[in-house]
Amino acid sequence: MNRFSYYRASTVDDAVKALCAEPTARVIAGGTNLVDLMKYNVEAPATLVDVTRIDALKGISETTDGSLRIGALVLNTTVASDQRVNDRFPLLASAILAGATPQLRNAATTGGNLNQRTRCYYFTDVATPCNKREPGSGCSAIGGLNRIHAILGASEHCIATHPSDMCVALAALQAEVHVAGPGSERVIPFAQYHRLPGDEPQRDNTLQPGEIVVAVVLPRASCNYAGHYSYLKLRDRLSYAFALVSVAAALEVEDAVIKSARIALGGVAHKPWRRDDVEASLAGKAADETVFAGAADLLLAGAQGYEHNAFKIDLARPAIIRALTQAAAGTPQSQTDKRIA
Ligand SMILES: Cc1cc2nc3c(=O)[nH]c(=O)nc-3n(C[C@H](O)[C@H](O)[C@H](O)COP(=O)(O)OP(=O)(O)OC[C@H]3O[C@@H](n4cnc5c(N)ncnc54)[C@H](O)[C@@H]3O)c2cc1C
Ligand code: SF4
Repeated sequence: MNRFSYYRASTVDDAVKALCAEPTARVIAGGTNLVDLMKYNVEAPATLVDVTRIDALKGISETTDGSLRIGALVLNTTVASDQRVNDRFPLLASAILAGATPQLRNAATTGGNLNQRTRCYYFTDVATPCNKREPGSGCSAIGGLNRIHAILGASEHCIATHPSDMCVALAALQAEVHVAGPGSERVIPFAQYHRLPGDEPQRDNTLQPGEIVVAVVLPRASCNYAGHYSYLKLRDRLSYAFALVSVAAALEVEDAVIKSARIALGGVAHKPWRRDDVEASLAGKAADETVFAGAADLLLAGAQGYEHNAFKIDLARPAIIRALTQAAAGTPQSQTDKRIA
């Protein structure tokens, strides 16, 4: 590990100033991702800005319009066990519980989960070319081992996926990301927070230099999906494994007809994969398997497999249908009993 200096910020402004003062500075929260990457020499920040003492980043609270605000420092365990989250946004609790392990969820924060880096093997192996780690060096995954890589939205520069479970649910629930920086505070719709690789795969998200995540806000309107949701995660092991494909499905159903739908995929792209037109196409349709199969085909349109990951396309289609079927029936995938019947 390289030498670095450590700065404990006491306010958001303080953290922003420290980040602006040193371009390679990084925020550290739970440290479960960043410290690993520092040990591998993937990240070599000159300064670590510890934000864990900043009160403004803590706590879950209700806003005046009935939305729920989750501070960037709230632990994954706290979010998943919060009664308000479970009553109104159970899809989020389910997705978080599908991720990592209890020990990790006890340390991982909301802001850290949002900003965790890809699990592409070449990204963490500094002996190999990787455009995300070292722009212009090439992509070892495209012609290499790409079993866990993207089938949607990738570019010739990078085919990595975003590894978060939590973010797939946040995308489906149309959360907002509240950020603070050297300018004024701003709100980023979740769909615009993470970005596709394009020709700048080194940029995972739309944060500007010096900006930090302050909170994630779940809109009141997304409470409508509390009765019909499912988070289905397909992976190599039942726990302690990232998603090969995951599906966050949320429906409003009345008399077996879909009033509105939200659906996002994880493990398939550089960001949670969601398409407004697919969701719109479900509105007013019968909540049945034929309709869900049509939605799956549309959501996967343009999917491209590589040598080792083409199986993901075949895995994703039935997973989408199953998750939507579970959501419609009000029988969400259990995160304790993870067998797929
Ligand atoms: C063995 C293992 C298995 C795992 N399995 C899963 C899984 O199945 N599903 C899943 O979703 N995740 C999984 N994870 C990832 C885990 O969820 C993340 O490591 C964790 O959420 C990161 O949170 P943290 O607070 O520890 O972040 P840190 O490590 O502190 O930070 C991570 C990144 O976020 C940035 N950051 C942190 N807070 C902020 C902020 N407020 N504003 C801006 N940037 C910020 C940091 O600068 C850093 O770049 C796994 C991790 C491990 C080690
Ligand atoms: S897929 Fe992206 S992260 Fe992986 S080697 Fe290629 S450029 Fe690097």
